[in-house]
Amino acid sequence: MIILPDFRIHQRDYLLKISRAITAQLDLDVVLRMVLEASVSMLGGEVGMIALRGPEQTLSIEAVLGIEPDEIEVLEPLLNFASFKKSQDKDAKSGELQLHLRLISRKLNRVLRQVVSLPLQISGESLGVIYVLRAYPGSPTPDDLLILQSFADQAAIAVHNAGLYQATIAEKRRLATILDASGDGIMILDAQLKVKRINPMLSSMTGWQMNFAVDRPHDDVIRWAEPVPKLTLEKAIADGWPYNVVRDSNGEWESAVGSLYVEGDLERLDGMRLSVEIKYAPVFFEDGSLRNIIANVRDITRFRQAEEMKSTFISVISHELKTPVALIKGYAQTLQRDDAEWDKETIQRGLSIIEEEADRLTYLIENLLMASRLQSEGVLRLNMGEVALDELVADVLERFKTQTNQHQFVLEFQENFPTIQGDEARLRQVFDNLISNAIKYSPDGGLIKISGQYTDDLVQITVQDNGIGISSTDVTKIFDRFFRAQEAIEKGLPGTGLGLFLVRVIIEAHGGQIWAKPNQGQPGTTFILTLPRR
Ligand code: ADP
Repeated sequence: MIILPDFRIHQRDYLLKISRAITAQLDLDVVLRMVLEASVSMLGGEVGMIALRGPEQTLSIEAVLGIEPDEIEVLEPLLNFASFKKSQDKDAKSGELQLHLRLISRKLNRVLRQVVSLPLQISGESLGVIYVLRAYPGSPTPDDLLILQSFADQAAIAVHNAGLYQATIAEKRRLATILDASGDGIMILDAQLKVKRINPMLSSMTGWQMNFAVDRPHDDVIRWAEPVPKLTLEKAIADGWPYNVVRDSNGEWESAVGSLYVEGDLERLDGMRLSVEIKYAPVFFEDGSLRNIIANVRDITRFRQAEEMKSTFISVISHELKTPVALIKGYAQTLQRDDAEWDKETIQRGLSIIEEEADRLTYLIENLLMASRLQSEGVLRLNMGEVALDELVADVLERFKTQTNQHQFVLEFQENFPTIQGDEARLRQVFDNLISNAIKYSPDGGLIKISGQYTDDLVQITVQDNGIGISSTDVTKIFDRFFRAQEAIEKGLPGTGLGLFLVRVIIEAHGGQIWAKPNQGQPGTTFILTLPRR
């Protein structure tokens, strides 16, 4: 059995204690203090100090032993002697150091005559310096330096670890911020397809709270409203995901690209549906086995709506444009025929149909232009002025009266109807639309009643017909762009579903409201709109 001298036993005990502290990931401050205690004690020192390099490579004192905290700055001149050993002019430096030591001794009222110092190094990189100040003069022995080296090495490991730990924390925070702030839903799965993390966006998309989602199977959180026909995660894994494996020249697995793409309707926890696209990207261990899957979930509701709207737009518009163009062409060709003599009445009727259909085309084009301008500008510009709604409505009605004998019109405006602030041309468009709809959607004729009331703050106008009516589920939808109620489509009544959308935009731009309701106890619909007087 080897008997160690006492100081070796002490050194070993100290080293053990410090390495345990490092393994236990104690605070860097605690470890550095332990290192100083060991170094000062083993070297018979009075004062100990550890200075660490900052980002700019300058040293700053991080731990001291043997002096009061408010005395630390007295030791600062020693930092200039960090590279003392390598100095060209050793003697001059040494003289300078002695001078500083004397000054420090005087300021601290202590006897300090010798400095033993060593760099804290790891893989050739200098992280700082450890100093032990002794009361007696002279130079450190090789043994002194060996002992201090053992503690300096420990301190260097602790500092290095702390740096790594901080970098890991910073990286984690960065990742957490990316996850939290992402506009897409993100889910991290383990290889067994269990949820390890979801970000706030995915939480709001699915209705699953983070805490409840963790450790659940993927399929609990991502529930498809209808089975997704294409690839599933299980199949992807079973098929030896990734698909696009890149191998190096030895045929070794190198990297994998190739994420799995799925699109469909999610069923949220509250039962609502959400159209999403999900990209699953695998993360592998070094040996190529699956470690995690990162799912990136994007809400594609708007995209889908836009697609749907585009196709509705094309079908509605082509149908609506074709009919008047065909009529105009047909009548123009007929009237032009050389082989027939048309009487005045037939010519007149043909021409008035051509005119009406041209008007219909103009109206359609105007609506389309307005809707597209709204889409690009986002707001409707109004040309405000004083508008007498009772006169405006009467005027619009006069024009329509000449176009139908099947309908009876009643105009009932409260007396002394006030003028309001508004855009006359746009408001005319509103009543053109409501009254023409009342006529169009009462194909068998009937009564159309328009009435106006007012209060101190607002005016209210209702347009009531006894036509085909609208189901209670559709009354709110008819103000959406391109929406047409089933009754209208089934009866083959022409239209684009744009008019009421524009009516609502105009009324809302005026600060007003519009809604519709089925007539109570009798067929037909009532449209009610309110507008502020000022
Ligand atoms: P369009 O009449 O060109 O289809 P609108 O936007 O003016 O477009 O109307 C949207 C839908 O609302 C119509 O397609 C129709 O289904 C319904 N609608 C509008 N007004 C009436 C009404 N007075 N009676 C019954 N249904 C109506």
